[in-house]
Amino acid sequence: MKSYDVAIVGMGPVGATLACLLARRGLQVLVVDRELAIYDKPRAIVLDHEALRVLQHCGVEESFFQSVFPHTGTDFVGIDGQLIKLFDPKAPPFELGWPPNVMFIQPELEEALARAMDRCATIERHRGISVTGADDQGDKVILTLSEIDGAERQVEAAWVVGADGANSFIRESAGLPLHDMDFAEWWIVVDAWLTGDTPLPRKTTQYCQPKRPATFVVGPRGLLRWEIKLLPGEDPQEMRSDDRINELLSGFVDPAAVSLWRSAVYRFRAAVADRWREGRLLIAGDAAHTMPPFLAQGLCAGIRDAASLAWRLDQVLRHDANDALLDSYEIERKPHVAEIIGHAKAFGLIIGELDPQRAAERDRVLEEQLRSGTVPTERQAFVPMLREGVIAAGDPLAGTLFVQPKVLTGTPAREQLLDDLVGPDFLIVSDDAAMLDLPPSLLQRWEAIGGQRLFVGTGPAAEGVTRLNDTEGLIARWLARSNIKAAIVRPDRYVYGGASDPSALRQSVMDLTAQLTGSETYAAA
Ligand SMILES: Cc1cc2nc3c(=O)[nH]c(=O)nc-3n(C[C@H](O)[C@H](O)[C@H](O)COP(=O)(O)OP(=O)(O)OC[C@H]3O[C@@H](n4cnc5c(N)ncnc54)[C@H](O)[C@@H]3O)c2cc1C
Repeated sequence: MKSYDVAIVGMGPVGATLACLLARRGLQVLVVDRELAIYDKPRAIVLDHEALRVLQHCGVEESFFQSVFPHTGTDFVGIDGQLIKLFDPKAPPFELGWPPNVMFIQPELEEALARAMDRCATIERHRGISVTGADDQGDKVILTLSEIDGAERQVEAAWVVGADGANSFIRESAGLPLHDMDFAEWWIVVDAWLTGDTPLPRKTTQYCQPKRPATFVVGPRGLLRWEIKLLPGEDPQEMRSDDRINELLSGFVDPAAVSLWRSAVYRFRAAVADRWREGRLLIAGDAAHTMPPFLAQGLCAGIRDAASLAWRLDQVLRHDANDALLDSYEIERKPHVAEIIGHAKAFGLIIGELDPQRAAERDRVLEEQLRSGTVPTERQAFVPMLREGVIAAGDPLAGTLFVQPKVLTGTPAREQLLDDLVGPDFLIVSDDAAMLDLPPSLLQRWEAIGGQRLFVGTGPAAEGVTRLNDTEGLIARWLARSNIKAAIVRPDRYVYGGASDPSALRQSVMDLTAQLTGSETYAAA
């Protein structure tokens, strides 16, 4: 029977991302999907800077990143067409290395991920195969793979991840119940290409209008999207007819100026799995959570799951971490995504209000908030930091995202993004050489988890330390404004914790390595 480190069920964007992240660490990965081809129509249309950074870690090629467009911002308009709320696009510089939000075309991303997977020698991937059985035997999982013609075979894997979408087979098999978060609305989504000359908003626009709540999205390269709420009594299937779609669109655009690409009716729901792991079975992406698209975070959250799971599986499989580390995946990810779902629901309720009186009151309150400047106007403000999990307890920096400067490397020198240079490892980063000089036993412990030490200061540094040429001094500025001398950064680029002196840093390294190995204490060097 063929054997793998990790088998991934589902080759949607989350499964494909996870496959790349694991294989680029040298793990043997099987990834299968029951569909014969990539779904050729878009669902997600916005990605955030964190997702782009993870896709960078996947080895997605430059041409995909060239194909995305910066988000132009979002206006929420009230009953009389007045501005009641907004998200501004953030101006450069972009400290994570990527713009906070970009517009993209999902099938193009999935094609780019397929090519990235094909460049990984340790990925075996198959389409047209359904997983129909997952038997967790304690020390491994036996998966049953069913071909389209009904032929069955079995393979074994140390770990199985269900990235198999909202109706996840793996979630069901593992007995991981879904917690309903009380949101269920019918919306029709229409994607179209701009073909004529017609006035359209320059920004994404939320029409918070009880007569017909809707979202208009400015996609890349002339792609336009309308998400339109169905009103009580409207039949979701009947609303998909060409006549009804033209009728709906004519409220927003001259239908003759666009060419329809696709339409689909969705029951937007909010739910999160109560548990994300049972034994050797784990879930990620839509298998673990679903949300209405009003904050454009469903896929971003799934990509975060993949990044969070990849380094944990790597620590368990290649660095002898205790498999209890995999429980911290749910501890960390579940509250994070639940908070995002809460915001997405809240935006859905703002946009979708059908009662004219309540909508008028909403407009009054939101206009007042906008005038007084008391509400965030950055979309990313609604994406929280990590508050639990593998982070230093009580440290205000723990769970925030580490910056990503461009660094100069090689001869002749060329500019590279930091993560492309250092790879997906734990990092200690400092501009003070003394901070990086760890005692031998602690250094051994640090290197056993694959940790690297990066120096952004001047003068000599200890042996084994990588010197970075951060030409714009972004890391040094970040350390200074965070009031620390060094930071420990996780492979998914969340900050584990900061330290102001060598003894605090050493304690943090001991705490982290103890968390990974599951040992209560680690003897001081
Ligand atoms: C209208 C709309 C707009 C959205 N906009 C955004 C946005 O702008 N930004 C954003 O971040 N998110 C957005 N989302 C959410 C985003 O599209 C999803 O969260 C994302 O596509 C989920 O990816 P996934 O890989 O987890 O699941 P999926 O894409 O559903 O992939 C699951 C895969 O598993 C396969 N599979 C299932 N069962 C089996 C089995 N038993 N054996 C083998 N294979 C199996 C399926 O064939 C499928 O290919 C939007 C969603 C919608 C509906």
